[in-house]
Amino acid sequence: MIDSDLMLLCFIFVIVGLTVGAWFGLPVIVRSVQNRRIERICRERKLIALTFDDGPCPGMTEKVLDLLDELQIKATFFVIGNLVRENDPLLDRIQRDGHHVASHTQHHLDCWKVGPIRGVRDFLEGVRTLRDRELAIQWFRPPKGNATLGTLLSCWLRGCKMIWWTHDSGDTGFGSGKSAMGLSEIVRKVIFGGRRVIPEDDVRRPEMREDLLCSLEVMGGVVLLHDGERRHESCKELTLECTRDIVNRARRNDFQFVTLKELKQGEERLSMNGP
Ligand SMILES: [Zn+2]
Repeated sequence: MIDSDLMLLCFIFVIVGLTVGAWFGLPVIVRSVQNRRIERICRERKLIALTFDDGPCPGMTEKVLDLLDELQIKATFFVIGNLVRENDPLLDRIQRDGHHVASHTQHHLDCWKVGPIRGVRDFLEGVRTLRDRELAIQWFRPPKGNATLGTLLSCWLRGCKMIWWTHDSGDTGFGSGKSAMGLSEIVRKVIFGGRRVIPEDDVRRPEMREDLLCSLEVMGGVVLLHDGERRHESCKELTLECTRDIVNRARRNDFQFVTLKELKQGEERLSMNGP
């Protein structure tokens, strides 16, 4: 009797362990595999995709759009549904200027911190908000890069593709540089609850982004930037400075700037040509 109880307990323990592992672990594996493929395409085709999260934000998104216009760059904007509702004219301008629009949920909930249903619902609402505006949403980026099996499957069922980034610009006041989501980053995230926070005085020091620029001008990649509200006011200027630096440095090395839609087309051409 004791043996059968123990067996049942072990069975339950294994099932719960596997479920939790799949819930949080599978998206991490997908992210890692996807990033390696993107890194290869970007390096071989000399491509960089600039992406801006957390907008649209009055007073900031316009500045980003003006700068992109000046630099003649098209980018991808991961917008938050409830901000879109308040700032429809900004969304119109993003599209009018020829940029690509993608979803970043409805309320920017971190699905690792809210219940599974709330996380999935936030994703679904965000996509619905944009599709109500007749936007063909192809891409979704989970807030803070945290996804679960629930959001991954919902994304797939809604015909969207989840995408992260290969390079974090650090324009939110956190550590910047290449972000391949290795084991050390996962451990740091789980145990210490986040990335290294940079003191406000240091945020705009050019040397803080030297690693990022060096990596991008050789490797290319998908860059995470922000046009939303920020923890430091100086981070808003940092976004603009960082964008300008990335473009100037990468163009010297003949890199091209693309939207995620164009990056996907590059990926398809590359797979047609073989490995
Ligand atoms: Zn975000």
